[in-house]
Amino acid sequence: TTLLELKNVSKQYGKDTLALSDVNFSVNEGEFISIIGPSGAGKSTLLRCMNRMIDANRGEILFDNVNVLDLKKRDLRKLRTKIGMIFQHYNLVNRLSVIENVLHGRLGYKTVIGGALGFYSEEEKRQAISLLKILGLEDQMYKRCDQLSGGQKQRVGIARALIQDPKLLLCDEPIASLDPNASKVIMDHLKNISTTMGITVLVNLHQVDVALSYSDRVIGVSKGKVVYNGSPSDITNEE
Ligand code: ADP
Ligand code: ADP
Repeated sequence: TTLLELKNVSKQYGKDTLALSDVNFSVNEGEFISIIGPSGAGKSTLLRCMNRMIDANRGEILFDNVNVLDLKKRDLRKLRTKIGMIFQHYNLVNRLSVIENVLHGRLGYKTVIGGALGFYSEEEKRQAISLLKILGLEDQMYKRCDQLSGGQKQRVGIARALIQDPKLLLCDEPIASLDPNASKVIMDHLKNISTTMGITVLVNLHQVDVALSYSDRVIGVSKGKVVYNGSPSDITNEE
């Protein structure tokens, strides 16, 4: 079944940067899709339009049959629990601990002064700990995030998204700042999340080889347009 459908989505920044131009594609529940293309192609803009971090100018973005472009500001918090996101630069709160960053996901990034763990229920803490174990961070839970490696930080970002129980996980260049070993760990976790939790994953990548080896489908973007939408094996054959 279709989880997400984009119809003629366009996004212009200022007067003359057309970042997305009539983008059309749909995503089925449970798919693992890579979005590839050169820097500046519009990949990041595309993902950010889906959870309304950015407002597209035209078109429709149907998520669970609702056009997210019609949602009011007060509904965006709820949308972003269902559409989680992770970032190239992790976007963690460095002075807080790992578990506090994960629990932060529950609150929609409202600042809990001092990061008081007492603010959260036992059930929420159990959930956070269970996710951190899945992601191999059980020994890091009470460390400050600025003491972690990049790969560990990205795993915290994944846990922070997952605690909201999303249907769709958007990953914006999640391995662009990581070495090959850490990149493999992150990609393996994303694949595992997709298969074991049934979460649909969209991941922006500029490493074509990684995209080809992990994805059910690849969407190629260039100059704001979709230029490829198909299986990874067909791309290999074209080369
Ligand atoms: P990618 O993720 O593929 O590198 P982006 O979506 O970041 O591409 O950028 C697409 C185009 O939009 C680029 O030309 C970029 O410079 C421009 N752009 C992105 N964000 C902004 C912004 N906030 N204001 C103006 N132009 C932007
Ligand atoms: P990230 O660190 O998440 O990869 P970027 O470094 O690509 O993000 O961009 C940081 C911010 O700058 C984003 O909010 C993005 O929209 C904005 N931005 C990117 N390209 C441009 C541009 N050409 N003009 C203005 N703002 C831009």
